[in-house]
Amino acid sequence: MLDTEQNLIKETKNTLIDPFGRTISYLRVSLTDRCDFRCVYCMAEHMTFLPKAEVLSLEEIEILCDAFINLGTKKIRLTGGEPLVRKNVLTLIEKLGKKIGSGLEELTITTNGSQLTRYSEQLFEYGIRRVNVSMDTLNSELFKKITRWGNLEKVLEGIKSAQKSGIKIKINAVALKNVNEYELESMMKWAHNEGHDFTIIETMPMGEITEDRSDQYLPLSLVRGRMKEKYTLVESDYTTGGPARYVQVKETGGKLGFITPLTHNFCESCNRVRLTCTGILYMCLGQDDAADLRKVVRKGIKEQGLEDAIREAISRKPKGHDFEINRRSSSPSVKRHMSVTGG
Ligand code: SAM
Ligand code: SF4
Repeated sequence: MLDTEQNLIKETKNTLIDPFGRTISYLRVSLTDRCDFRCVYCMAEHMTFLPKAEVLSLEEIEILCDAFINLGTKKIRLTGGEPLVRKNVLTLIEKLGKKIGSGLEELTITTNGSQLTRYSEQLFEYGIRRVNVSMDTLNSELFKKITRWGNLEKVLEGIKSAQKSGIKIKINAVALKNVNEYELESMMKWAHNEGHDFTIIETMPMGEITEDRSDQYLPLSLVRGRMKEKYTLVESDYTTGGPARYVQVKETGGKLGFITPLTHNFCESCNRVRLTCTGILYMCLGQDDAADLRKVVRKGIKEQGLEDAIREAISRKPKGHDFEINRRSSSPSVKRHMSVTGG
């Protein structure tokens, strides 16, 4: 057999390819369904959280991450709920961080920023170089209204502390009609001035919440149009391997990303799958197809057996989501909350 053929076989053996030819190299892992905030678009104020026995242990999460890395996962993003409120989270981050450079290329976190002051130095030490901080407003009162339990000053302090530790920050804001709609531009200016990229996310109809989602929905085509009237948005093929499409803003010198699952189908280049804190692998954020990997891990099945279960799941990855924000219905397209899969 020729060397190139052998290499090809080896490569395919260690790669996850879905039925639509997409290579799956990005795993998002929700470490917990719990959170110290209660953002209005994400959670109801009184949530019932999962019993501990259902949640994967940190060791089980590591076993699953190892299996994915063996199958070609290059990027892992830890999310939640709030990943940094998980007890002993740093032990897992330290272990995963050691895998960077041997298959894994990047370990990142999506956080609400509340614990960054406490953890940023160690996060850097364990290999975290980029963190996404979700923040929808710079107005303390509005911040309290949106997050219900959050404190803006604490988050801003966390961002500063992470930056000081050498971690690059991206600010993610969910666009909310009549809430932060007219603040997105000043947030972008602030973010760019502080040296952070800024990404705007469209609300997605996930999970029962108390508010009406059609009241919150703001199409990003509109936001982009408004930005375009004031700024020169230069198309860019910059990517962080995630779903955001970026433009370079000439006047600020910063990057502006748009995550538009509803106004623009973002599924064609989907390279990711999501693991919940109970070990359920969702092949698509907006569909219910799933595989129970906890069952596999708790049976003591490791390595080949576990990898086979993952391959089987990937062979069922759907082509795209069915999100729809129906003006007449307040029920979500997907019943689970975003905090289950972590966005
Ligand atoms: N707690 C962390 C945080 O807030 O960054 C990580 C988990 S949170 C579920 C991940 C991201 O999902 C956040 O940026 C949040 O704003 C976003 N999100 C939550 N619910 C959403 C929804 N219904 N539509 C769009 N984005 C949502
Ligand atoms: Fe918590 Fe993040 Fe959901 Fe807000 S968006 S409630 S911070 S999990």
